[in-house]
Amino acid sequence: MKKKQEDMKFAITSKGDAISNALTQKMKSYLLDFGLEYDENQPDIVISVGGDGTLLYAFHRYCRRLDKTAFVGVHTGHLGFYADWVPEEIEKLVIAIAKTPYQVVEYPLLEVIIRYVNGGREARYLALNECTVKSVTGTLVMDVEIKGDLFETFRGDGLCISTPTGSTAYNKALGGAILHPSLEAIQLAEMASINNRVFRTIGSPLVLPAHHTCMLKPVNYSDFQISIDHLSLLHKEVKSIQCRVADEKVRFARFRPFPFWKRVRDSFITD
Ligand code: NAP
Repeated sequence: MKKKQEDMKFAITSKGDAISNALTQKMKSYLLDFGLEYDENQPDIVISVGGDGTLLYAFHRYCRRLDKTAFVGVHTGHLGFYADWVPEEIEKLVIAIAKTPYQVVEYPLLEVIIRYVNGGREARYLALNECTVKSVTGTLVMDVEIKGDLFETFRGDGLCISTPTGSTAYNKALGGAILHPSLEAIQLAEMASINNRVFRTIGSPLVLPAHHTCMLKPVNYSDFQISIDHLSLLHKEVKSIQCRVADEKVRFARFRPFPFWKRVRDSFITD
């Protein structure tokens, strides 16, 4: 998909430290000089300056207009999965944004629907990295249903359901697999499950395709600490937590090839 440059509106989200703020001001003034319009409310392109955490924040800020917004990340710390441009390249990036029609790549997101015990109330979230569910009182006990059938009763510290791009974040620390973001899938990873002769879980991360819904149903307690990316909230009287691949996608502006596996290698092995 190509995007024309005329009438392009941009916004920049900064991590907030001195280096990221200075870079933000520099990029803003360059792009204004090129005739682009700064629009914090309805941008066509959002530049995130900081790290992957800054891009998560930008994603949630513009979550309601994902079909109209493309993201690009500049990192002011270490190489990121979402932030892959370095400060020394910003002149090149600004010219690319202002002058060249850019390509957009789309990656899968996780849809989470939390339903509550009383009143049929529900809350819907989109996660770019993952959703985690933890107990607020002792061991988490949850029935895990896949595609409508009971798969297991999980007992342990918690569960993490991640997107392919989030598979290099919390999921990786839990021993989950790294998924290529072209795969329309979500991954369910355990946090310290209890396994003995009485209690049993699969013990391996599960990768579910887009047409398989995962439903978590509380067995004893109904209050949980649930995180969606960087946002963690206490949810009371939870009846179920439904996870599946979202219909929406996140769109990244691509100005040069940067193969996913090269990014994985550069981030975790050596650059
Ligand atoms: P944070 O605790 O300040 O940062 C967590 C780290 O995860 C940062 O180094 C961040 O990179 C990195 N990160 C974020 N998304 C990533 C991705 N898709 N692939 C690889 N690394 C990634 O929290 P935060 O900045 O608000 O980010 C929230 C994220 O932290 C959550 O979505 C979760 O994935 C992650 N997290 C990880 C663990 C763990 O690994 N044990 C525990 C809790 C949360 P930058 O430094 O570039 O921002």
